Amino acid sequence: LHLEAMKLEKMEIVSHLAASISHEVRNPLTAVIGFLQLIAENTKTTEDNKAYAKYAIEEATRASEIINDYLTFAKPHPEEECKMSIEQEIKKSIDILRPLLLKQNVETNVSFQHTGLIKGDPHKFHQVLLNIIKNSIEAMPNGGSVLINTSEENRNIYISIADTGHGMSAEHVARLGEPYFSLKGQKGTGLGMMVVYKIVESMNGSVEVESEYQTGTTITLIFPKIP
Ligand code: ADP
Ligand code: MG
Repeated sequence: LHLEAMKLEKMEIVSHLAASISHEVRNPLTAVIGFLQLIAENTKTTEDNKAYAKYAIEEATRASEIINDYLTFAKPHPEEECKMSIEQEIKKSIDILRPLLLKQNVETNVSFQHTGLIKGDPHKFHQVLLNIIKNSIEAMPNGGSVLINTSEENRNIYISIADTGHGMSAEHVARLGEPYFSLKGQKGTGLGMMVVYKIVESMNGSVEVESEYQTGTTITLIFPKIP
């Protein structure tokens, strides 16, 4: 029992460390990308150096994407597990994504058939919704829609996120959540859905995926309802 407690404490320390590093690293990384862009766009920069700057931008962008998929809402302080309103947290997550949704011509429709409480850390729950909705946006390069629906059945709460994107084959659905599985080449990390599964499991929930190639994808999160 003592050993278990020590292991848990170690894990806590590691995850807080990761969260604080990501917070500290994100801003300087953004600055680095900004200055590299200035170098790349400067008319005095030689063609060779422009190419080097572009590589450096790509690599730095990749590093920041890994931080985004993993640790956007990880907080460098102890977890705050609480009862949260799914309706409120879904609305907050959509607000965070609003600029990206507008830019990519994706409209959202939200239908709250059920508005209950679930238990968990709101920051982690935001990370789950963010990673899922970002995939939906990325699956609709010419725009489309995301429909979010909540319902309740047999003391479970269902949150489904449906998009009108390019969908996935059955083999790809089966690989979803596997670390580093990505079909986006340099643009993907393959960590987004792994993080989704991990967080949802830690909240005693589960994830179901339905997808039809060239039609769309629906991801359903199932959580136990709290009285
Ligand atoms: P990444 O987005 O970095 O590639 P993810 O773990 O978030 O990694 O997703 C893994 C892969 O699953 C994606 O590369 C994509 O091919 C596929 N995928 C995930 N969500 C969707 C979706 N809504 N529509 C179509 N494909 C998806
Ligand atoms: Mg992703």
